[in-house]
Amino acid sequence: QNALKLGVLTLNYQPIPEIVSRTIVAVEALLRWNNPALGSVSPEKFIPIAESKNLIVEIGTWVIQEACRQHTAWQSYGVDRLMISVNVSANQLIYPDFVNIVRESLLETGLNAKCLVLEITESVSMENIEEIKKIFQELNKMEVRLSIDDFGTGYSSLAELKSLSVDQIKIDRSFIEDINESGTTDSVLIVDAIVGMAKKMKLKVVAEGVETAEQLSFLKRIGCDFAQGYFFSKPLNAADFLRLLGK
Ligand code: C2E
Ligand code: CA
Ligand code: CA
Repeated sequence: QNALKLGVLTLNYQPIPEIVSRTIVAVEALLRWNNPALGSVSPEKFIPIAESKNLIVEIGTWVIQEACRQHTAWQSYGVDRLMISVNVSANQLIYPDFVNIVRESLLETGLNAKCLVLEITESVSMENIEEIKKIFQELNKMEVRLSIDDFGTGYSSLAELKSLSVDQIKIDRSFIEDINESGTTDSVLIVDAIVGMAKKMKLKVVAEGVETAEQLSFLKRIGCDFAQGYFFSKPLNAADFLRLLGK
């Protein structure tokens, strides 16, 4: 409850390069809680607690504001044409004021809506489909981009995906992890099929958790657009990310 007030929440930034050009075209903001006693606590641990204590809207709002602010700070260093992705949790998305919070964050920081991507996990987006559709439509009107996170772990309803008017999907790390040199796992077939389907639907595809050259070359061969993972870089603080861009 004090983390926000004490200023011990930070964002780390993981680059998302385009596979063919190897240019960093996007970045994902990942939340960190630097607890004096516990060290850096994983969002996988504290986000569920924040949700259960009704703190997610407040924390999530801070994340959106901070990501927009950081993007404009980088712009003052000459960074342009960079997309920034922010994770949005279920309860945050369906909070009545959510669209206004996004709109105000953009207005206050002056960030172009087209530079902001909101990532919503697949299981969430398919559960409250009708409600989510309406929220997505409003965000779409504002020209904010939408991404389905952890794709392949939920229902993967292709019909619904079409009606949700999303811009990109992110293939879950668990599938990428299974891609090996022999190329014989089911995941190889699944990733290939997801990329093929996404192309036909004119959706951009990001592969999460890319750690090896083999995984990258496979993704390149099947036409996946973007790769995110330790192979390129771990999540970095804002200053280190700027240095990486400079290279
Ligand atoms: P995610 O959205 O799937 O984010 C990717 C996670 O994979 C990040 O973990 C990232 O550090 C990690 N990762 C990236 N590349 C690799 C790789 O090559 N190998 C492996 N093994 N892992 C990799 P992180 O930062 O611990 O975040 C965990 C999850 O917490 C995120 O999963 C996301 O669902 C959630 N999260 C993070 N920040 C926020 C936030 O601001 N709001 C909300 N609601 N959730 C957040
Ligand atoms: Ca994500
Ligand atoms: Ca994931």
